[in-house]
Amino acid sequence: MAKISINIASGSIEKPKIVVGIDLGTTNSLVAYVPKGQGQSQIIPIRGNGIVPSVVHFDAHDVPAVGVYAKDKLLGQPERTIYSVKRLLGKNYGDIPLNTLDIGYRIIDDSSENMVKVQVGSRFYNPIELSAEILKELKQQAEVSLGVLVEQAVITVPAYFNESQRQATRDAGKLAGLDVLRIINEPTAASLAYGIQEQSQGHVLVYDLGGGTFDVSVLQIEDGVFEVLSTHGDTYLGGDDIDRRIAEYWREQTSQEANEKTPFAELRIWAEKAKIELSNNKNAVFEYVFESGMKVYLDYAVLVKIANPILEKTWNSVKKALKDAQLTPADIQEVVLVGGSTRFPEIQEQLTQWFAESRINNQINPDEVVALGAAIEADVLAGNRSDVLLLDVTPLSLGIETAGGLMDVLIPRNSKIPVRVGREYTTSVDGQVNLKVSVFQGERELVAENRQLGSFILEGIPSMPAGMPKIEIQFALNADGMLQVQAKELRSGVVQKVEIQPSYGLTDAQVEEMLLSGLTNAKTDVEERLLRESQNEARQIIYTTERFIEKNANLLSNEEKAGTEQRIETVRGLIDNGDRHVLQTAIENLNDFSRPFAERLMDIAVSKALKGNRIDQMK
Ligand code: AMP
Repeated sequence: MAKISINIASGSIEKPKIVVGIDLGTTNSLVAYVPKGQGQSQIIPIRGNGIVPSVVHFDAHDVPAVGVYAKDKLLGQPERTIYSVKRLLGKNYGDIPLNTLDIGYRIIDDSSENMVKVQVGSRFYNPIELSAEILKELKQQAEVSLGVLVEQAVITVPAYFNESQRQATRDAGKLAGLDVLRIINEPTAASLAYGIQEQSQGHVLVYDLGGGTFDVSVLQIEDGVFEVLSTHGDTYLGGDDIDRRIAEYWREQTSQEANEKTPFAELRIWAEKAKIELSNNKNAVFEYVFESGMKVYLDYAVLVKIANPILEKTWNSVKKALKDAQLTPADIQEVVLVGGSTRFPEIQEQLTQWFAESRINNQINPDEVVALGAAIEADVLAGNRSDVLLLDVTPLSLGIETAGGLMDVLIPRNSKIPVRVGREYTTSVDGQVNLKVSVFQGERELVAENRQLGSFILEGIPSMPAGMPKIEIQFALNADGMLQVQAKELRSGVVQKVEIQPSYGLTDAQVEEMLLSGLTNAKTDVEERLLRESQNEARQIIYTTERFIEKNANLLSNEEKAGTEQRIETVRGLIDNGDRHVLQTAIENLNDFSRPFAERLMDIAVSKALKGNRIDQMK
């Protein structure tokens, strides 16, 4: 029953509101909140369960259903039942490794669309709409459960989610009727649930092994401020792989005939049951006889042997995350366990060996820990507490294109957000009245190697000589990773502002690749940048010198004119030669030749000005 109180004096309806924390997971989703006056967060039951399968089913009339009921339709109507939609969020068709996605529904191959679409019958849905269906169910059922309105939320995302994916999550929230106050990183939320922010400083490693994904993040906390130092993982690794390997092991142990009669999907279901049973009781022996007559066995020692290659992959990621954060296991004070698969005792044992000095935080239900932490941040944003301050960093650098296709970084990667940065630019051509601002993301020196986020044109710059306009470009990146770009000509006040809606479609692997490629190409990039800078300088000097000769033709000797023109041609001929040093020498040569008479003309100009003429009136 919804508790809605009526204000008798005004007759208006006062609807109590709360801010919730939502863990919008690949497999399951959860909602949590902090009851008024209590510091502790709680999971909100949804139709009697805490966990809601992140599955959307459309019936024959295209009416959606979410959760347990939808999951039950997976076997019977796979083409109308959508799961793992989080893997599609913020991506385009080319980004999705379809061969690794074990799905029964149809993804549309339509390269004209930025974002991938799912076809169900004659209808098409994008991942934002599908995620919104899940969020709608969570919102509505949380309202039913608590009897209050749920209009504001904090939603968690993996730390490696790029801006497109964060924006897509935010859009899904909006579509579900939620005001998304903040998007926070899952590992940060998990640390909050353990109250780790109360430590004044330290390092936390969050190990998150779910059904289908693995993430490891290294966080730094300082005075309640969280910063993600590094993340690593595998978007296609998890408990499901252990189940598959158990099923394969059973197949190897059985005759071909029995194998043929037992569907693999059924073997996998029982493999998971075996894994969980042995995980909960190491001394048990799992036995099962299928309808086909196939008999299977499993004990804990064999389970560990089967799971080890998967665990090995996670340790490799842990090593990489530590290396990226420039830390060793001894630097980690707290290890936080997230994801259902971390209940497997072998993981906890191996982690204890790895992080002998650290505290292993495994007391909170690993399925609930992210939502419980998100609720704490929600409580902070609701104004109920002030002991937590979250801080995230940008995963990739943000900048604009400058002359010669160079990337001018305004916000470097790993900058703490929110952040606001401004830098002044000018025009390169006389009388230039428009300036195109192209915004890029990435680590390479040349924009062509980075990813364009958007572009716009600052129009109406008053006509002035090149170099005179003062154009300030300002980047404001908010706490959710949304970028606002403003260009302002400071002399005239002409201004243009855009919110960058990052074009959808950058995979986690691409983000990683962009980072890596930035590192491995650093040396050649610097050379390339220096060459481009020399080329820009050459074009600029040719332009200004030619204008200068044109304006002052009557004050120069023929020798001076011819000598200058000849040197201009030399510089022009060397621009595309590719040798920066030779080009630079030619530029200096031109400069040295023209400097004496440029100075002479300047003296004349100054003395004329002193006689009462304004400099800008002189030819
Ligand atoms: P999540 O994606 O976080 O919901 O985790 C789901 C995964 O956790 C599935 O692969 C489950 O089989 C696995 N899981 C749940 N309970 C256990 C357990 N006790 N031992 C090992 N794996 C488990």
